[in-house]
Amino acid sequence: MSATARPGEPLWFDLTADQRALLGPLREFLRSEVAPGAVERDRRGSFPHDIVRQLGAMGVFGLQVPERYGGAALDTLTAARIIEEIGAVDGSLCLTVASHNSLCTGHLLQAADEGQRERYLPDLASARKLGAWCLTEPASGSDAAALRTRAEERDDGYVIDGSKVFITQGTVAGTYVVIARTDPAPEGRSKAGGISAFVVDGDTPGLVRGTPEEKLGLHSSDTTPLTFEGMRVPAENLLGRRGEGFEDVKAVLDGGRIGIGAMGIGLGRAALETAARYALEREQFGRPIARHQAIAFKLAEMATELEAARLLVLKAAALKDAGRDYTLAASMAKLKGSVAGVAACDAAIQILGGYGYVREYEVERMWRDARLTRIGEGTDEVQHLVIARHVLNSFQS
Ligand SMILES: Cc1cc2nc3c(=O)[nH]c(=O)nc-3n(C[C@H](O)[C@H](O)[C@H](O)COP(=O)(O)OP(=O)(O)OC[C@H]3O[C@@H](n4cnc5c(N)ncnc54)[C@H](O)[C@@H]3O)c2cc1C
Repeated sequence: MSATARPGEPLWFDLTADQRALLGPLREFLRSEVAPGAVERDRRGSFPHDIVRQLGAMGVFGLQVPERYGGAALDTLTAARIIEEIGAVDGSLCLTVASHNSLCTGHLLQAADEGQRERYLPDLASARKLGAWCLTEPASGSDAAALRTRAEERDDGYVIDGSKVFITQGTVAGTYVVIARTDPAPEGRSKAGGISAFVVDGDTPGLVRGTPEEKLGLHSSDTTPLTFEGMRVPAENLLGRRGEGFEDVKAVLDGGRIGIGAMGIGLGRAALETAARYALEREQFGRPIARHQAIAFKLAEMATELEAARLLVLKAAALKDAGRDYTLAASMAKLKGSVAGVAACDAAIQILGGYGYVREYEVERMWRDARLTRIGEGTDEVQHLVIARHVLNSFQS
């Protein structure tokens, strides 16, 4: 594409023909197979094993895994669009797909050696096994490097002891990436030094699954605490370099943030659509409420904020695909995508009035599901910290 686009020429953020060919069947599957049961799954908190299996066959659980391991080998731009599509239909399923791809599988893509890739990626890419990524602990969330889980070298492997909380796919996963401290933080360096990552099979003795959390939303996504009780892991399961795992954790989170931003936008987009259709139908004071400017302006605001957020998500994805630094862009995309998504869901509830507060139109479910996007993979406040650091660094002489 030339530097100046001519009229009619595709712009970088337009859907390509390949993306359209991929998204068409996926949208159809989401409309016919996923949307009809989303309310009931949310009500019962049931995990959609059957849908996961079918999406696995469509490549959705190996979005960026190379083809030689059975993945779809998509770029980040396309993966982000797919996450948005799923978010627009079912937030819980979206978190399942996003976390499986960007966290557990993402960490393997980031740090695994060839043997580990061959052993773990085919099952993950096909969804024969789901992936979980275990960083957060009872006493360390935003301050993740303060984690207390220990991996002690013994015989020809490691023995891991500790506990993790809020682990997505904690119960249903077959493959876990566990972040633990192997070494004391080196003198004079940040406490992130000395942290390592391990890939752990789901049937490893000492991996103890707790009771799934009862959450505000995302009821059919599995969130479970885990404990590791003398869990023995072979030395060959160490991911990347011992003691330097936190660098990979940060890279994994950067990638994950693009997905969570896209998820917020998907949920907000669904809320906007519901609210706009409702506003055109619902009459008060003798005309559709869409003809009251207060309501029309809310819709305008929702659409504008979501579009701005989408452009940030696509920009971060494009930078990642180009091999350029995208930490700042990913934080902005995550912050804007989640805040705009939640705000759109909240505005939709307001536009639907009492009907927004009850389950019938689903905007209350969308709001409950979207609310997580402002917390998981770095809260709003953590994104502000990252963005502020970049802004200040760029002006420091
Ligand atoms: C549904 C769900 C799924 C999740 N999935 C996973 C998963 O798969 N794997 C995983 O490892 N984790 C997972 N998490 C954990 C999630 O990433 C953490 O909850 C999140 O990072 C925040 O940590 P925390 O809950 O301990 O909050 P805290 O870190 O205790 O933060 C509490 C509040 O203090 C604020 N705060 C903290 N530090 C600062 C600061 N320096 N400046 C300003 N404000 C600050 C925070 O922004 C927040 O508002 C999940 C959480 C949920 C709810």
